[in-house]
Amino acid sequence: SAKARGGGYDVLFSPEAAHRMENQHRLDAAIRSAIAADELFLNWQPQYELTTGRLSGAEALVSWHDPTTGRTVPAAEFIPAAEGSELILDIDRFVLTKACQQAVAWRAEVPGDFTFSVNISAKHMQRPDLPEFVRKTLSETGLEPGRLELEITESAFIENKQAALKVLSQLQAFGVRFALDDFGTGYSSLSYLIDLDVTRLKIDRSFISNVMVSTGKRNVVQSIMALAHSLDLDIVAEGVETPEQTAFLMQLGCRYAQGFLLSRPISPDELTGLLASKNRVTPELIEGAKRIL
Ligand code: C2E
Ligand code: MG
Ligand code: MG
Ligand code: MG
Repeated sequence: SAKARGGGYDVLFSPEAAHRMENQHRLDAAIRSAIAADELFLNWQPQYELTTGRLSGAEALVSWHDPTTGRTVPAAEFIPAAEGSELILDIDRFVLTKACQQAVAWRAEVPGDFTFSVNISAKHMQRPDLPEFVRKTLSETGLEPGRLELEITESAFIENKQAALKVLSQLQAFGVRFALDDFGTGYSSLSYLIDLDVTRLKIDRSFISNVMVSTGKRNVVQSIMALAHSLDLDIVAEGVETPEQTAFLMQLGCRYAQGFLLSRPISPDELTGLLASKNRVTPELIEGAKRIL
């Protein structure tokens, strides 16, 4: 106990700690009821291939419709807290199931290499039951494994690297693809990249924002691109918000991009519309970026 360690109960139950625990409990309860009441839903953020302007995939992002406030709460506001408990596993399973169900409906509308991306929490990559859950979900929904890309972060490999590597290789054996999300923000060594054998790296938004005014960020992005090329990995730049950033990324040979400039996350109905329209390219945008080059 805290007392045995000489800290006294006040260390464990300081007003701040008590407040934090109370908040975590409140949040846990709220998320649990949100799942039960079907208040979580998905939006999809389109991804574009910069070289061709093609719509090349979409990432599922979970949001929460909070009925008490009537507000839509973005993932950034509740996922970090959910990651502190087992609830994140329930959220992941919900999202994976919904994403595969929705993706199946678009299959006939999209090119063969179009991917549907789903975020998987670091905690989940430690769970030996994840591959079976994914396998079952794919077979029940009928989605081809090659259509599914799981976005994972380096943090999945920090606690128990062997467990996560095993989960990764079992999923890869089914034909599921992987992207390393938020790349550059973790602290893992570059040797991870060789061990992991992922298909794509997603350069974190923090490097893309202000990339045009920060020489340091430009250098980091450039180095990540060079590294990715040498390892034959495709890059997805996230958080692209301006034509200047797009031009810079195109110049470096960045293949894929995602961000508010190209499209905000959109509802499944809106994605259906986007796929049905002839407008699969990002017309003004790519043209605009080319003019800057
Ligand atoms: P992420 O996977 O890196 O997702 C990108 C986040 O950046 C999303 O926020 C997206 O709305 C936002 N974003 C995209 N483009 C731009 C841009 O141009 N500018 C700015 N400022 N933001 C942009 P969101 O939906 O709040 O998600 C936050 C994080 O929560 C995600 O980061 C991901 O780590 C996690 N997350 C989201 N959905 C899920 C999920 O279904 N399961 C799990 N485990 N995690 C999820
Ligand atoms: Mg992601
Ligand atoms: Mg990301
Ligand atoms: Mg990110």
